Amino acid sequence: MKISDFKAQPNSKIDLSKISTSYSGKIKSKDEAKKLLKKNVKEMINLQDKLYAEDKYSLLLIFQAMDAAGKDGTIKHVMSGLNPQGTQVTSFKQPSAEELNHHYLWRVNKALPERGRIGIFNRSYYEEVLVVRVHNLLSTEKIPSKLIDENIWQTRFKEINDFEKNLYQNGTVILKFFLHLSKDEQKRRFIERIDTPSKNWKFSEADLKEREFWNDYQKCFAEAISATSKKHAPWFIIPADVKWFARLAVSSIIIDTMQKLDLQYPKLNKQQLDNLKLYKEKLEKE
Ligand code: ATP
Ligand code: MG
Repeated sequence: MKISDFKAQPNSKIDLSKISTSYSGKIKSKDEAKKLLKKNVKEMINLQDKLYAEDKYSLLLIFQAMDAAGKDGTIKHVMSGLNPQGTQVTSFKQPSAEELNHHYLWRVNKALPERGRIGIFNRSYYEEVLVVRVHNLLSTEKIPSKLIDENIWQTRFKEINDFEKNLYQNGTVILKFFLHLSKDEQKRRFIERIDTPSKNWKFSEADLKEREFWNDYQKCFAEAISATSKKHAPWFIIPADVKWFARLAVSSIIIDTMQKLDLQYPKLNKQQLDNLKLYKEKLEKE
């Protein structure tokens, strides 16, 4: 699997209808993918340990998608086995009254990962250029109408780019994943949720309503990804009709990125190492 195949190239126009939702590479079976994912999970545990010990970088993983694309499952499988002390998942829902009284990045800032940690955003501030755009919710957000013009979305893209650049320059490594699902596969998954009692709770009428806006969402996603995929904060368009492939692709991208950080356990100086010897002698003499 070549990771660069999934990267949305900066400054290039994206047509999602031309990008496969069902690609699964050279991997032939779910079993094979599961084995590879297991190996990746092990490697990620090692890398997380170093990230935490080094305490310099933080990793921010953003997941955006249509309903039923598998955000929850991907997060669950890819992050399994990680040290819970070093990870934090935040789900961004409709903003509360308090949140609407603040800048849209207010709730985001509070949820950013500390150094040494992995922060996972299940939805994110990208909703500000997706659902808010599709349903025209700017007035709900109490933005003064005088400040809203036809360039508002370009303005928001720039705000987001500036925000991410700032994070990057201070040690936050950002990866953004769009789980690219087909409309047919969404329908299949919705029906499965209705047919399976243990999955009934996952289905809501709102999901059907949003499905009616499928094309608008695809358009907004494509524009947002084109405008905000940057070298320091790339978007990856992950084919998501085949769940096991999506999970494997996401974990491979995370590992590749973390490996390139050249994470190191903190090194002790001579004095500190000598001290350790003394402490050991002391303990052994007890
Ligand atoms: P699930 O898999 O449980 O359905 P979900 O992420 O779809 O997870 P929901 O509670 O169903 O969670 O939906 C959250 C809703 O909140 C989504 O429809 C999303 O578009 C909406 N939302 C998120 N951020 C904003 C925002 N800033 N403004 C308006 N709506 C938002
Ligand atoms: Mg939902």
